[in-house]
Amino acid sequence: MTRATASSAAPGWTVDALPKVAWGKGIHVYDVAGKRYIDASGGPAVYCLGHGNEEVNAAISQQLGRIAHGYRYMFTSDPLEELRELVTEACGAELEHMVFVSGGSEAVESALKLALQYHSARGESSRRRFISRRRSWHGNTLGALSVSDVRSRRAPFEGALIEASFLAAVNEYRPPAGVATDRLSEHCVAELESEILRVGSEKIAAFIFEPVVGAAGGVVPAPAGYAAGVREVCDRHGVLMIADEVMCGSGRCGTWRALQHDGTAPDIMAVAKGLGGGYLPLGAAIYRRAIAEVINACDGGPLTGHTFTGHTTACAAGAAVQAIVKREGLVERVRITGAQFLCTLRNALASVEAVGDIRGRGFFIGIEFVANRLTKEPFSTSAQVAIRVGRAAAAAGLLCYPSTGNVDGVRGDTVILAPPYNATFDELQEIVEIFTHSVRHATAEVARTNAANVP
Ligand code: PMP
Repeated sequence: MTRATASSAAPGWTVDALPKVAWGKGIHVYDVAGKRYIDASGGPAVYCLGHGNEEVNAAISQQLGRIAHGYRYMFTSDPLEELRELVTEACGAELEHMVFVSGGSEAVESALKLALQYHSARGESSRRRFISRRRSWHGNTLGALSVSDVRSRRAPFEGALIEASFLAAVNEYRPPAGVATDRLSEHCVAELESEILRVGSEKIAAFIFEPVVGAAGGVVPAPAGYAAGVREVCDRHGVLMIADEVMCGSGRCGTWRALQHDGTAPDIMAVAKGLGGGYLPLGAAIYRRAIAEVINACDGGPLTGHTFTGHTTACAAGAAVQAIVKREGLVERVRITGAQFLCTLRNALASVEAVGDIRGRGFFIGIEFVANRLTKEPFSTSAQVAIRVGRAAAAAGLLCYPSTGNVDGVRGDTVILAPPYNATFDELQEIVEIFTHSVRHATAEVARTNAANVP
């Protein structure tokens, strides 16, 4: 039996015949045939400084020249301590403890385990259950997958996943039936509290959510008031708040922590992608002082991590990336320039009927395609609209990130743009031009196919 290959977190347009990557510089990537691409999505929102940054490469090779890695139970290191300092300063809110890991799934896995360990240490080991949301993605390890809602990726593992609660997706463009947009925050916060009470607060360990949903939703920021409401409900019921900022964090949305925008802070957060900018595999589970105190008093430290936790050269890469982001004021640049980028994109695509919504924060933008702008009816999956846009863009030398399934787990077409934080105005303008052309090309192709199929 074959399974559908299109998945909401995998750009299906890449599966047929992948080009072979050769090298990259700044916003550009070249394949072995010499074709040049503008990397407008940074893979899945990873390459925050673009490619081939000489300062980061030098930091990596200098560290390799000394030693690749000092094992965590035997050594600490300058790069690790430097990175920890940079991240603590960027996070604020007493988020000063962290476990460095090798990517997003490991960061989420550690975040979940830290929550469980904290409750056990406090003598509340009945708190084992996680609450998550529909149309969200937290990673591919069993724990992270258990709290993720991407049907095609879960399907082969159903039955072996940890049982979790799933709440409605929080999406202003597609609110739950009967919920007015201006009541969305209130409604979704109340849904969280109902679920906590239904299961019993003494059984709930944590609520995990993406402050700005990435691949599974096509960039969906929560409405004003939502995160603060979640914070209040979690506090009232002794439930920990875990922010998965793997995709939306590390400055991508114009604040270093995505939740800074909402004026609130989590107990635990996961970061990865932009932390090391894709130069080496790196992620982190970051947690509050209050959690560290409880865990350390009971167990002596966090009972999570791996052989390559705090990998010295990966930390050197991360420290170099974060030092550049700080020195060059790139988070602020993303905040200001991102708003202009969003505006320019909206203007450029305003007359394309198939574009239903353009949303996002900073350099994290989602474009949603619909068959009918008025009813927001999605295209049929067979039309492959997001994938066609991705293909048309790649053919024209632009890399973007198509994702599907954001409407109901199967239907829905979105494309994500996530340029490097240091992209120039000219480069951003070129992205808008090629992307608009690709959207027009792909949607016209879909319209022609539909017309040809009318009996
Ligand atoms: N959380 C989020 C929000 C993500 O977007 C991803 C990856 N797309 C992950 C977790 C998992 O990260 P990784 O692929 O690095 O394991």
